Amino acid sequence: MNAFTFYMPTKVYFGRNCIIENKEAFKALGKRALIFTGRHSAKINGSLADVTAALDGVGIEWSVFDEVEENPSLETIKRAADKGVAEGADFVIGIGGGSPMDAAKGASFLIANPDKEAEALMAAEPLKHVPVAEVATTAGTGSETTQYAVFTLHKQGTKNGAAQKTFADIAFLDAKYTESLSDKVTVNTAIDALTHLIEGYTSKKANYMNDKFAESGFEIFKECIPAIKALDFNLEIREKLLLMSTIAGIVIAQAGTSLPHACGYMPTYEKHIPHGRANAIFTRAYLELFEDQTKVNKMLSILGFDTLADFDGFLKSILDPKEEFTEADVDRYTDALMATPGKLALHPFPLTREQVREMYRKSLMVY
Ligand code: NAP
Ligand code: ZN
Repeated sequence: MNAFTFYMPTKVYFGRNCIIENKEAFKALGKRALIFTGRHSAKINGSLADVTAALDGVGIEWSVFDEVEENPSLETIKRAADKGVAEGADFVIGIGGGSPMDAAKGASFLIANPDKEAEALMAAEPLKHVPVAEVATTAGTGSETTQYAVFTLHKQGTKNGAAQKTFADIAFLDAKYTESLSDKVTVNTAIDALTHLIEGYTSKKANYMNDKFAESGFEIFKECIPAIKALDFNLEIREKLLLMSTIAGIVIAQAGTSLPHACGYMPTYEKHIPHGRANAIFTRAYLELFEDQTKVNKMLSILGFDTLADFDGFLKSILDPKEEFTEADVDRYTDALMATPGKLALHPFPLTREQVREMYRKSLMVY
């Protein structure tokens, strides 16, 4: 068996009204919170109201930075952190999808290191940070149970995972906040979580214990497939999707994401393809790279598909059609990926440039 380390220090509160019922948990984090949200959703789905009521209930001061954009940039993180420093915030709370949750993690480092520029988030020198709480309002990224944060780097024209990593101290998962999600965001984010399960399950760092989490995630996803096909999401299904996505977060926290995520970042930056759909575009060709298909077949069988082509057909049937790409795009993306070996590091066997190019070509031009 592979040797492994399993580390997941976040205290997860799952269930209806979990924020209000566990408001005391905020007291261990600090005395003044800076809350991160996107522009709209947290104000309408009840999550911001519940967090602020909980903080008021335990005498914690708070303010809100509500300007986190999708795929947040380093510039935004720095602006928010400056606000936190000016106000004396001693912990952060991210409320939203992955974008506000990641923004809160990034700012937790910059608030603790006010002399640092945002680029320090991408640099190796370890930084201390203030405590982090997360409230997930999409069922997708699992950022509430991962140590990762992904930021847009305008100077480099792409997105990248931050070098500074921290798990949230506490995370709240109440599916009622996800009821306001559009069908499209529900599906794209569910597929993001599914690709986390798949990439963690097939990563070089896969191990027995983590695989059991991934397999339980596949089982839960299977139960949601009829609702996803019918675009019919009741609260029970939304709870399952949320549970699946947080399990998927636990999986990638241990085993990382792999090539579909690495391949998706540039197309997302250039063509504004939603993150989950960008991963899905590469999933079939990625899984075909494995000469030994034992695990791929096990995964397909748990998910209820006979073949990889059937699974790919399902993904295509529920996602928007892919954008137009050219051979020049394929070459450019291949060169960029080959120039960052770290992105290939979790693939279990070495890949040639030709194999990587073929994966891009099949994904973007053929299937
Ligand atoms: P998101 O970018 O956080 O949000 C997408 C959209 O959904 C926004 O318009 C947002 O509106 C809206 N929204 C969020 N919650 C809603 C709700 N309950 N009801 C209605 N609308 C809602 O989407 P995401 O897919 O969750 O996160 C994507 C980001 O996470 C990417 O940057 C990706 O790279 C990153 N990511 C991180 C990890 C990790 O481990 N840290 C893993 C995978 C992906 P508002 O702006 O108004 O809130
Ligand atoms: Zn993802």
